[in-house]
Amino acid sequence: MGVGIVGLGLIGGSIAYDLAAMGTPALWGLSRSLQTCGQAQELGVVTTAATEPQALTHWHETTLIIIATPLDQIVPSLARLLPFLDPQTVITDVGSVKAPIVAEALTLWSRFVGSHPMAGTHESGFAAARPGMFAHAPCVVTGDRAPAEAVELVERFWRSLNMDLVVCSPDAHDQAVAWISHLPVFVSAGLLLSCLREPNAVVQNLSKHLASSGFRDTSRVGGGNPELGCLIAAYNRAALLRSLDAYAEVIQELRGAIARGDQSQILESLQTTQQQRSRYCSPPLR
Ligand code: NAP
Repeated sequence: MGVGIVGLGLIGGSIAYDLAAMGTPALWGLSRSLQTCGQAQELGVVTTAATEPQALTHWHETTLIIIATPLDQIVPSLARLLPFLDPQTVITDVGSVKAPIVAEALTLWSRFVGSHPMAGTHESGFAAARPGMFAHAPCVVTGDRAPAEAVELVERFWRSLNMDLVVCSPDAHDQAVAWISHLPVFVSAGLLLSCLREPNAVVQNLSKHLASSGFRDTSRVGGGNPELGCLIAAYNRAALLRSLDAYAEVIQELRGAIARGDQSQILESLQTTQQQRSRYCSPPLR
């Protein structure tokens, strides 16, 4: 099947690497950058690459298009393709928030199926793309409102990259990633911002000097890409607020137990977290 990729960054470029290795015919890429188009073609990662859809000639043989642009550019990217699309072409995306994107995309193209391949690194751009990034990682497909054969095509596609499929609604996806991906960004950012508010310069400098592996682990996602955090806050606001409110409540409960010197409450809470953590991390992290 012919495949198109819009946005040859970390995710789009890595998909292209895997598809090229599988010998996908008529594999095209759309990039804003001439340099990326040239590199992707030279490396044999795509058959053809262009900066404008009108420069491509593969529309009638394109079965599937994957949109791999930033969250706020997924629907605009789809809109730019509309004049060229073959009516049978199925479109998916890779955005890390699903409900608002799927709802808007379906108003433009009925054969749109939302996806979220849950693999990546902290890097970005085509230079960071690499083959084999998706193997054995989960991929969410949220196709409950698209035609069944379009959903099946998208599922087959992600399976061909050796991904483990998870089928759920866009809303369930967004609340789940709010808990395990988006809340951690803001908890971690909150940790860093709180430490930076320490008014005593000696203590603040000392804490920076003493910070070690525990602080590195808990602050990592809060020290990531600010633009990405802003997009998450904008696109997954309701689910993120729900998780943040629950988190604030738990912190207040823990604070109360510490203030009261309620050792049994503190112990019970920490025993629960010690026992339950491994259920979120497979294989269990130490
Ligand atoms: P990235 O490396 O920055 O790639 C995004 C690509 O989108 C850019 O390389 C660029 O490609 C294109 N682009 C950027 N701004 C654009 C604009 N205004 N108009 C059109 N195209 C634009 O980011 P990424 O990490 O691959 O993320 C892409 C998508 O994957 C996002 O929706 C994100 O939610 C999702 N995602 C990311 C990860 C992760 O770990 N990073 C994991 C799962 C899903 P060209 O230079 O080729 O135009």
